[in-house]
Amino acid sequence: MQPIKTTEETKHLSYDVVIIGGAMIGAAVAWFTASNPDFAGKILVVEKDPSLEFSSTSRTNSSIRQQFSNKTNILISQFSAQYISEFKQYMENDPNVPTISFRKIGYLYLANNHIDCNILKKNQQLQLSLNTPTSIMNAEILSEKFPYLNVADILTGSFNQHNEGYFDAMTMLNCWIRKAKEKGVEFIKGEVKKLEIKSKQISAIVLSNGSRIQAGNIVNATGPRAPILTKNTHFNLPIEARKRFTFLFKCATSLAGELPLVIDPSGVHVRSDGNQFLCGFAPDIDKEVAFDDFTVDYQLWETKIWPILTHRIPAFEKVKLVNAWAGHYAFNTFDQNAIIGPHPEITNFFFANGFSGHGLQQSPAVGRGISELIIHNKYINLDLKSLSPIRLIEKKPFLERAII
Ligand SMILES: Cc1cc2nc3c(=O)[nH]c(=O)nc-3n(C[C@H](O)[C@H](O)[C@H](O)COP(=O)(O)OP(=O)(O)OC[C@H]3O[C@@H](n4cnc5c(N)ncnc54)[C@H](O)[C@@H]3O)c2cc1C
Repeated sequence: MQPIKTTEETKHLSYDVVIIGGAMIGAAVAWFTASNPDFAGKILVVEKDPSLEFSSTSRTNSSIRQQFSNKTNILISQFSAQYISEFKQYMENDPNVPTISFRKIGYLYLANNHIDCNILKKNQQLQLSLNTPTSIMNAEILSEKFPYLNVADILTGSFNQHNEGYFDAMTMLNCWIRKAKEKGVEFIKGEVKKLEIKSKQISAIVLSNGSRIQAGNIVNATGPRAPILTKNTHFNLPIEARKRFTFLFKCATSLAGELPLVIDPSGVHVRSDGNQFLCGFAPDIDKEVAFDDFTVDYQLWETKIWPILTHRIPAFEKVKLVNAWAGHYAFNTFDQNAIIGPHPEITNFFFANGFSGHGLQQSPAVGRGISELIIHNKYINLDLKSLSPIRLIEKKPFLERAII
């Protein structure tokens, strides 16, 4: 990862847009705003750790799917898939922008009871209506198509390969940062400690070194830390840092074809990653953790995850663990979906938070959406209003059944 230039000085005392957090979401907002021909202002991105080492972005599995149960999430990922595939064109055909690698291996959800089967079937109907060609397969078809899978206890699978798989998000992020800088966006190292509020608007941000910077619009792109800055705005973001483990392993036997991202009924998910395999899981007790807690529970691999994997794919009896890491989801405890849009009262303060494990793939649509709110005061290309924070006040959850 190319570190963000580590100056702590800003060129100006005042900016039209200040983005707090310079990882995937902050960089997306910076690029989409700076590259919009209707925007002529100054943009500052403040990032406390320019190495991004502990950000969710650096710990991700980089997967993208269309198999959601909510129309908005499907449309968001459809745009992302198109954006990834046509990245060079979207980046002004810059010869220095590479094609983004996008391995379309597909996602396969497995269900072992009638309730979950019906959910998959219902989701498929919605996906088909939006031109995502998901297939529902019974155990017989599954074992023909994926002969390495044990489907003895499986009733139904839901599979789609069109625009689902994994992509090179880090190259995308680096291009957004580099190109945003070329358009004059400033990236500084700094930690925002305080937001100054005057007449229901944020007037300035204050950094930990005491610097005060005036801001026209402010974007909260601080990942799992999002609630910290929001505290003194009389609005609580229901977001917690929740740990997720990733285990990377090699298998002695090769499978027939690339393994799609398989979501086992237990919640364990595994996919091929080049000639290795990448598996993800939540801790047994899924609770809020400290921001610096990245310890990996290797026992979980031995006692729980590996047995589940070998039950599902017997070839995984012979594997070698290559690497493992923990990362933090910005987990929205209200409805496990992104919170996008202006603060209910402080209308120059925008949230792009609470992605609960699918923010990487949502970054193009969210970057574009927030830039439209800043520039046009409304969504132009894709309406993201159903993700607005207003739903928290109205206590109306954004319903999405397909959460991984
Ligand atoms: C293990 C794991 C697997 C995942 N897999 C997928 C996947 O397959 N597909 C998918 O779409 N998503 C996935 N995600 C989710 C995805 O990685 C995140 O949703 C996305 O990276 C969020 O980006 P972000 O910019 O909002 O947050 P972050 O990447 O966490 O960045 C926030 C940044 O804000 C900075 N910051 C915080 N507070 C301040 C402050 N006060 N001042 C200045 N800077 C500050 C932090 O230093 C950090 O760099 C996964 C996440 C994890 C942990």
